[in-house]
Amino acid sequence: MSGWLRVIGLGPGSAEWLTPEASALLHEATDIVGYMPYVESVPATVTAKRHASGNGVELERAREALKMAAGGSRVAVVSGGDAGIFGMAAAVFEAMENGDGAWRDLDVAVVPGMTALLAAAARVGAPLGHDFCVMSLSDYLKPWPVIEKRLQAASVGDFVLALYNPASKTRREQLTAALDCLRKHRGPETIAIAAKSIGRAEEQMMVTTLAALNPEDVNMRTLLIIGSSCTRRIRRPGKPPFVYTPRFYEEMP
Ligand code: SAH
Repeated sequence: MSGWLRVIGLGPGSAEWLTPEASALLHEATDIVGYMPYVESVPATVTAKRHASGNGVELERAREALKMAAGGSRVAVVSGGDAGIFGMAAAVFEAMENGDGAWRDLDVAVVPGMTALLAAAARVGAPLGHDFCVMSLSDYLKPWPVIEKRLQAASVGDFVLALYNPASKTRREQLTAALDCLRKHRGPETIAIAAKSIGRAEEQMMVTTLAALNPEDVNMRTLLIIGSSCTRRIRRPGKPPFVYTPRFYEEMP
């Protein structure tokens, strides 16, 4: 039996956002490997053996998965959203580059998924209608000064800014520091969106301003979108507003 490895993005939560390609491969796999909450969210109809592990062991998990594929298993390494965006795909290639030379001959491919940003943006309108950039606020794998430099650069560039991993239960001060940094460069009325658990039962969407955004409203299941100087909101009586960034650029920042 010849093994393979597919790094699969499961989408941000809802079964409707799992692609047919990803679903078919999960059903062909003999083994599912990933961080526990993602392994648990694989549909119950998938009969493959599940190998769930904790947070922060991405590289070991990737090595294990490559070893299993080399041994003939059909391995699905799963991530939430898209596996290439702050997910397992880069860890698999890091393990491949630094591991057993034979792993480079394996049948390995990445299967795209819908990243949380696309789901969150669609819910609120079209905040990504013009140039945007994406960052993770976690300083677990990069030093804080790098994050700060990039926040400043994104602000100076007047990009719409999407922030993954804005905070966790214990990691709170980065968010406060990031908001301080952004508030130095962008006006208080800049639109800020806190998209929480999009596609899940507890989904919550908050549209506010950079000045009013309360870090208490942000948890580890939240994606933040900070508008550019052009991002605007369409107010609607009795309904949540739409937010969009026009396709043309109106003013120099
Ligand atoms: N690979 C994932 C991102 C993993 S990093 C993807 O492509 O979506 C984890 C971060 O993603 C969270 O801290 C949060 O910022 C964001 N996120 C993941 N799922 C989300 C969801 N359903 N709603 C809002 N944000 C989500």
